[in-house]
Amino acid sequence: MNAEIISVGTELLLGHTVNTDASFVARELAPVGINLLFACTVGDNPGRLKDAVETALKRSDIVITTGGLGPTGDDLTKETVAACAGKKLVMDKASMDHIEEYFKGRLLSPTQKKQAMLPEGCTVFPNSVGTAPGCGFRSENGKLVVMLPGPPSELIPMLKNHAIPFLLKAINGGAIVSRIVRVFGLGEGYVAEQIADLCEKSNPTCATYAKDAEMFVRVTARAENEEKAAELCEPVVEDLKQRLGEFCYGVDVDSLEEAVVHLLAEKHLTLATAESCTGGLVAKRITDIPGSSEVFHMGAVTYANEIKTKLLGVPEDVLAKYGAVSPQVARLMAQGVRNVSGSDLGIGITGIAGPGGGTPEKPVGLVYLALSDGKDVWVREMRNIGCNKGRGYIRFLAASNALDMVRRRVLNLGGIENAAYSREKSGK
Ligand code: ATP
Repeated sequence: MNAEIISVGTELLLGHTVNTDASFVARELAPVGINLLFACTVGDNPGRLKDAVETALKRSDIVITTGGLGPTGDDLTKETVAACAGKKLVMDKASMDHIEEYFKGRLLSPTQKKQAMLPEGCTVFPNSVGTAPGCGFRSENGKLVVMLPGPPSELIPMLKNHAIPFLLKAINGGAIVSRIVRVFGLGEGYVAEQIADLCEKSNPTCATYAKDAEMFVRVTARAENEEKAAELCEPVVEDLKQRLGEFCYGVDVDSLEEAVVHLLAEKHLTLATAESCTGGLVAKRITDIPGSSEVFHMGAVTYANEIKTKLLGVPEDVLAKYGAVSPQVARLMAQGVRNVSGSDLGIGITGIAGPGGGTPEKPVGLVYLALSDGKDVWVREMRNIGCNKGRGYIRFLAASNALDMVRRRVLNLGGIENAAYSREKSGK
């Protein structure tokens, strides 16, 4: 099955909005066996949109539009697409009820009500976030048409929960299940080599992706129902966990911080952080996770040397002798914050995030990360890693390394001092 995306919106053509919807839709199609052959962007102009839809309905089996479903005058997608596909727009009662409920106590204008007008006989995709429903149907010439709202916060859940299941059902009456195997410390290329045999198979499919200084493998299976698709995924997920070993930090978790918070909670351990170059990023990432208050005691951003001394008890002479960016100071920061907070584990991070401030001995990108559990202290050195990728990347990678150290300590995995990052092979 060949698909085409039509992104509607003048703001996309002007470059004011990056077309993340198209990339999101594209990424969801491949795993379900739908080939994306064309993607085009059209402004809020009914004539040009009509041309694009007519072309798409001729050359593609599936046409997916994004944007232009809202209440404003320039939201013309439904009218135009329905006309091209030979469909009348009719009022959908459930969508109208949802809109009325949404606007309860406020003025509900006729343009808002327009959002409940949908192509006759379509499958309605409810909008769990906003008001404009999406829909899927067959055009007069037998092509599958899907319309999705523009705001990514509305499009993403609608695509996953309604549009993809609709397409699968329309294509072969099946269901699809995807599992995400998350990896920190091994590069995408290296992992792709290790699992090449699995990536060649077709059901389930395995595909590798690189993201935010780490990578993940998506396992996708198709079967007549969800239960059977899940059963097909299971042995492949287990196989991946075996092959990726200690570098696999979780399955179907959203992030390294989520895995770490859950692990700490499971083991009833608490954590505190003293951060310099990461400026509180580890604390931020941990406290992004609901339930982190159970495991996170405190996060201090100890930028100035005096504060490292006053708050964490790092002796002035150690700072003078070794410099703030040193394994000795990282170690004392970790021990200091652990003592101050009374936590089970303390993290200390000091480094040079750049772009300035580097020297030949202590270049930009040099970061020392320490973890103290009251008995032992481990220090990890990040050097020449991602140093040309900028301040934001260095800080993010350092924070990920700190989280990885905690994970390894809690699981007694060893390798706590081995710098881990997303390159072709690392950590070994
Ligand atoms: P609304 O009810 O908000 O009007 P809509 O379906 O009519 O929804 P648009 O009016 O086309 O959507 O776009 C609304 C906003 O959604 C845009 O201003 C933009 O911020 C975002 N958006 C639209 N299309 C895209 C896209 N392709 N990628 C990323 N964001 C988009």
